[in-house]
Amino acid sequence: MVDQTSILDSLNFPVALVDLDSQQLIFINRAFCFLSDIFVDGSEAPDLGDLDKFFDGRLSNLLKTKDMCLVKEIASDQAAMTFYEFTLRLSSDSDSTAILIGFDKSDLNEARTSIDAHLMTIEEQSKDIALIEQRNKELYRLAHTDSLTGVANRRALFRQFKAIATTSKDFHCIVSILDIDHFKVYNDQYGHEFGDFVLRTFARQVRGQIAEDSIIARLGGEEFCVVDFHNTRSSATERLETALDIVKDLQLKTPKVDSVNISFSAGVAEYAVDGLTLDELLRNADKALYFAKANGRSCVIPYSADLFEKRDMTLIAKLHGT
Ligand code: GH3
Ligand code: MG
Ligand code: MG
Repeated sequence: MVDQTSILDSLNFPVALVDLDSQQLIFINRAFCFLSDIFVDGSEAPDLGDLDKFFDGRLSNLLKTKDMCLVKEIASDQAAMTFYEFTLRLSSDSDSTAILIGFDKSDLNEARTSIDAHLMTIEEQSKDIALIEQRNKELYRLAHTDSLTGVANRRALFRQFKAIATTSKDFHCIVSILDIDHFKVYNDQYGHEFGDFVLRTFARQVRGQIAEDSIIARLGGEEFCVVDFHNTRSSATERLETALDIVKDLQLKTPKVDSVNISFSAGVAEYAVDGLTLDELLRNADKALYFAKANGRSCVIPYSADLFEKRDMTLIAKLHGT
């Protein structure tokens, strides 16, 4: 045993021998004693009570089950922590002698802590990325939506049009401009807030009347654009005329006691016939709208070069009251 203990004493990791039958500490090596003042305090040799104290009262459990591991954190000089994992093994020489060996797992523990920190950082970063993506989406939505009416704004109209025009096979569309008639009067008579209410109601009603994949966008003020991708010029015109009938039937309650009716005028332009770009189509739809206004408002007029060449003079005369 003397030889054995001197060998155990020379080891640089903690080792203790315990007699399980008598529950006595047979031997504790120097490396073990260096771990705590508990083993060097007092004049008496360390006993099982000291060992149990070292393990904060958890030793008896280890001795009972024999196959458990105990982890013990020990503060080292540099205020860092050393982690020992203690395991209990039965001696090959005797059934009742158990060997308690401590393995320094600090590096492993440090690696684990660092992996955990990395995982947390990755988790935090992916949360941040998700948040940034969500915010970007919201910013994109805000940048492409008319805040008053909730329909697309001019920027979104041009983007969506370009996206559809460049990706669709056999692209075709009808572009219309709708302008609320005498809108200024509602503002003047009932206030700006009522004017806003008219704009919101109008946008909602028109949205409800056009195809789901048609675009409705607010160009500005009380002017809106509708892009219809499926109809012909005449069926798109008819669809807008139906929308006009529905809008005209609305009774909008004013802040005063009365209700008002609204109407709109519209100009219609057809892709390929009246223009190849959205700018060109809007320009010609706007010209047709001008005629719709001159024609007494509350009507839908398709653009045609003919309209300008032949009727131009009479309409201009009408507009100027000559
Ligand atoms: P027309 O039948 O010829 O189209 O006449 P109109 O009165 O509808 O058109 P006009 O261009 O004379 O007046 C448009 C008004 O719309 C003037 C402007 O103050 C008002 N307006 C523009 N934007 C808004 C808005 O966001 N809210 C409200 N309440 N009014 C607006
Ligand atoms: Mg108007
Ligand atoms: Mg206008």
